[in-house]
Amino acid sequence: RVTTVADPTLLPRRRAALGGDLSPLFYREPLQVVRAAGAWVSTADGRRYLDAYNNVPVVGHAHPAVVQAISRQAAILNLNSRYLHPHAVELAERLVTTMPDGLDTCVFVNSGSEANDLAWRMARIATGRSGVLVADLAYHGVSEATAAWSTNTYPSSARPTHVGIFEAPRLSADGEQPTGADARERVRAGYDELRLAGHEVALLAVDSVFSSAGILTPGDDFMRGLQDEVREAGGLFLADEVQAGFGRGGRNLWRFLDFGLTPDFVTLGKPMGNGHPVAALITRREIAERFAAVDEFFSTFAGNPVSCVAALTVLDVIEERGLVARSGEIGDLLRAGLAELGTPARGQGLIVGVELPDAPDFAERLREYGVLVGTTGPGGGVLKIRPPLIWSATEVEYFIAAFQKARDRWT
Ligand code: PMP
Repeated sequence: RVTTVADPTLLPRRRAALGGDLSPLFYREPLQVVRAAGAWVSTADGRRYLDAYNNVPVVGHAHPAVVQAISRQAAILNLNSRYLHPHAVELAERLVTTMPDGLDTCVFVNSGSEANDLAWRMARIATGRSGVLVADLAYHGVSEATAAWSTNTYPSSARPTHVGIFEAPRLSADGEQPTGADARERVRAGYDELRLAGHEVALLAVDSVFSSAGILTPGDDFMRGLQDEVREAGGLFLADEVQAGFGRGGRNLWRFLDFGLTPDFVTLGKPMGNGHPVAALITRREIAERFAAVDEFFSTFAGNPVSCVAALTVLDVIEERGLVARSGEIGDLLRAGLAELGTPARGQGLIVGVELPDAPDFAERLREYGVLVGTTGPGGGVLKIRPPLIWSATEVEYFIAAFQKARDRWT
């Protein structure tokens, strides 16, 4: 069997020191990774793997421009954001120009969880209400509030009564997309659930790619139905772009724009610093001001000059290399290649889901053929393909060849 672990003490030491169940690892025999560049990850035994999983290194692992920007800024200055420095201002200005009109205020945080958590605090104050609606099998974070929204991982018996659920937009048995009217109906069922427990809806939060629900691609009318229904009921709408953002969908920098949505909150994270922890909440000035009138927000590391220059460089590279359009083209190529193998795949741009009867075992097999993927969806039954956006036709070919070998050995 393949083993990539150079130091056999590492795994037991990790289990002992990091708490085995609290620090899960990919693969039955974990990979000991040593370095990565572009779309490739190297392990301690000298093997190289095509990275078809990691969205965080969105412009490629160890991108030289990002590495240089971080190192240079770290050597000049890094400190908290209560001092005036141009990088935070430049980044906030740049992000808000990519948003629909009115989303004019940016708050920096350190993770997607914190961005969603802060949106929740603001939504409650802005609306004076206490309920939230999220999709079934959603994931939104690790804070107390956002863990409870994470219907994919949170124990349903412990779900607080202020968290209501709407049904995610899966295709019907005959392959039909749910409509805008279906979305409205599902949201209304969620209000009823909240109202029974004494809550009115303050916020509806949705991951624009429904990643943890199995990578779903609803129509515009479904997504608009969610937004419009919650607005008409006096609640606010949050587009969680932590997974979907920074061009992954292959049409716009933000996936919610593909649907023509105009959220009250947008949360960004994961790929934002190409691996450097930086995240943001974008909202409307009046919402932020209502919050600031009664509460306070300051986070030590958020918006520091190193994090901000990392994010600015990521935006530069995405723009200079045309990675949004490339994500669209390469994603289409990948889905076409899979379809040729008789394996229909869903998704948009470079977030691709493949439903397989035994997806976790298939992911193990793909690893043996030199490709890293993940699994998601109900029971982990969907292969999750979500690579850096710098893939070209060469990586697609490599992936398809490995996929074919894994499948042929399988059947
Ligand atoms: N929202 C979504 C849709 C996510 O996928 C994640 C992370 N998987 C989060 C929020 C939380 O982000 P973080 O892990 O940076 O706290």
